[in-house]
Order: sequence, then C-alpha cells, then structure tokens
Amino acid sequence: MIKEEINEILRKYDRKKISVGTLGSHSALNIFKGAKEENLRTVCICKKDDEIVYKKFPLVDEIIFVSEFGELLDQDMQERLRKLNTILIPHGSFTAYISAEEIISNLLVPMFANRELLRWEVDREKQREWLERAGLRLPRTFKNPKEIEGLTIVKFPGARGGRGYFLVTSPESFYEKAEEMKKRGHLTEEDLESVHLQEYIIGAHVYPHYFRSILENNVEFLGVDKRYESTVDELGRIPASEQLQIDLHPTYTIVGNIPIVLRESLLPEILRMGDRVVEASMAISPPGIIGPFCLEAAITDDLKIYTFEISARIVAGTNVGIGTSPYLYLKYGERMWMGRRIAREIRKAIDSDRLEEICY
Ligand code: AMP
Ligand code: AMP
Repeated sequence: MIKEEINEILRKYDRKKISVGTLGSHSALNIFKGAKEENLRTVCICKKDDEIVYKKFPLVDEIIFVSEFGELLDQDMQERLRKLNTILIPHGSFTAYISAEEIISNLLVPMFANRELLRWEVDREKQREWLERAGLRLPRTFKNPKEIEGLTIVKFPGARGGRGYFLVTSPESFYEKAEEMKKRGHLTEEDLESVHLQEYIIGAHVYPHYFRSILENNVEFLGVDKRYESTVDELGRIPASEQLQIDLHPTYTIVGNIPIVLRESLLPEILRMGDRVVEASMAISPPGIIGPFCLEAAITDDLKIYTFEISARIVAGTNVGIGTSPYLYLKYGERMWMGRRIAREIRKAIDSDRLEEICY
C-alpha cells in the first residue's frame, strides 16, 4: 500500500528543510512564490528551454533539468527529490504529460493531493458520476453520435486544453465534421472512438477555485477566472459573412485567463457546490480532496449553473490571483493566493506534526 510507504518517507524527512516541488510549467510560479512566503524551500523540475522563466523570476532554490517531464518517474530523480525532503504539488502538466496510473503507482515522493482522485479526474465517466453524486447540474451527454440533438460539443480524452474540440448540431454534421477534422490532421481514428459528446451550454463561463483544508475542516472559496481561448474568443471580431467565406470553426486552445468577480446572489450556490463536491469526494475516496480544486461551469441567462468539468488540483486559472484575490482578501485580509494557501497548509502541518494527514 503506497500510503504506508509515503508515511515512512515522511517520517525520515527533515521537517526543518521541507521543499515544495513541482514541474516547471502551468502554475509553478504561483506555487513557488507561495512556498517562499511561507519560508519553505522550492524545487523545480524543468526543461532547459524553460529555464529563462525561473531565472527572470528567482523563486527556485533547486532546479533539476529534464528533457521531458516523464523523467519525474526515474528512480534517481525520485531519490533526489526525497533527499531534498520534497512534497510535490501536482498541476495540469502532471496528468498532461504523465499518465495518472503512473503517478498513482510509480511515484514514491509525497504529494499534497489525494492521488486516487486523479483516476476520477482523468476519466470523463467517473468525473460525471462524482459530480452527479454531488448533486450538481450537468450538461446532457450523448453516448452515441446518432443520439445527438441540438448544439453539441465534441471532446477527446485527456487534458488537451480543448485542442481539436468541435461543435455539431446533428448526427449528420458530426460525421461530416469528424471526417474533415481527420483530413486536417486535427484528430485520429482512435480519438474518434473515444469521443465525449456533451450538450453545449450557451452561457457565461466561470471557473470557480476552491481549497479544501483538512487541517481546518473547511472548504474555502478563493476566486474565479474565465479562460481566454484561441480561436473561439476572437471569432466575434470577424463578420459572419467573412466567417462563412473562410469556413471558420471555433477551437478552444487555452492561451490565458481573465479574473472574474461574481454577482453576489450567485455565491450561495457556488459555495454550496464546493462543499458538496468535497462531501462526494470523501465518499468516493477518503479522505476526499486535499487542497485545491476547481469547477468549470457555464451560467445561462436564467442563472442556472451547469458544471462541465472538475479538476482535483491547482488550476492555472488561479494565477489570476497571484498577490491577492478579492475573495481571499475578504477572508484573510492580507496577501493570499492559491500557491500561498497550499504552502500555508503545509507549513501548518509541519508545525503541528500532521504532514501524514495531508500528503499521499
Ligand atoms: P502546459 O504545461 O502549458 O502544456 O499545460 C498543461 C495542461 O494544463 C495543458 O494541457 C492545458 O490544458 C492546461 N493549462 C495550461 N495552462 C492553462 C491555463 N492558463 N488555463 C487553463 N488550463 C491550462
Ligand atoms: P474542457 O476540456 O472540458 O476543459 O473544455 C475546454 C473548453 O471547451 C472550455 O473552457 C469551454 O470553452 C468549452 N466547453 C467545454 N464544455 C462545454 C460545454 N458543455 N458547453 C459550452 N462550452 C464548453
């Protein structure tokens, strides 16, 4: 049982020299700055090409170069991380470049996360089950392209940041577009076999960020962002007549994030959603979510909130709050953001000898 091995490793750690470690990408700066503010050491597993980021923003005590992120699993790398008393913070690049299975079974370095939930996060059916158990409102899904009814988004497995997604309105338009996407090299036959067909929600996109604290037995609401996606967010600048002439299709490649504050009357439901997702996670895999998580939702004009995805880890959208976020200011009244909230939980666990409760 890996948890026992993790506990064993934690017992050998020098509690005065704990490092916070992560892959150099996604939300690493957010995480490292938070760690420094809480007087923790930092380790960055980084590609040589990306070193410039961690030189221009000097927040890293120890940099370890790799040619690809999969090298995180190498035995000597893991040994090196353990020697540095590292607690890993998983973010989007972990499951984008390493399989969830490998992270769960072959990474013997303590993580600030419930690894078992990674399995639920990467599998769309399991995600849906989790969100349904939490009683959230979800878009309809269609098991077979033949069932498609109304505006539908076609998704592919894995965190590909919306690359290659497309919209259809009927079974016929699905087969037509799929063929075209294949010809353009945007997707393979294999992708098509594992498509996920979801009702397209026409509404304002909001991505609320939460933090579940085991130590304080609480779910905190930290902030909200929306994504800035290419090309879907810029299509509106091109008149419909030209769109038709160049046969333009929306794509959903993430390029950045924009901060949002919500209409206050939406907060009760947004807050309850976070609580219920944590309750459901405790039932599916005790002790449930550890630390950060985020929902992806769209709010329609009759103010119904539809959730289409969950990330059981820090999301890059929390980068909009580096320094401070309005909702964290309301609670902490000081410089606080997701990376620092994570580090503070680790700091508290070190000081109260409770690391075993938050590292898996
Ligand atoms: P990257 O290391 O930038 O390739 O990111 C790894 C994964 O995280 C990608 O597949 C993206 O889907 C996701 N991701 C990266 N940056 C962001 C962002 N700013 N907002 C939302 N998702 C992101
Ligand atoms: P995902 O891979 O689920 O994070 O989706 C990537 C992007 O596709 C989102 O940020 C949205 O812009 C869009 N999207 C995904 N699912 C839906 C949906 N059911 N309705 C509307 N837009 C969606």
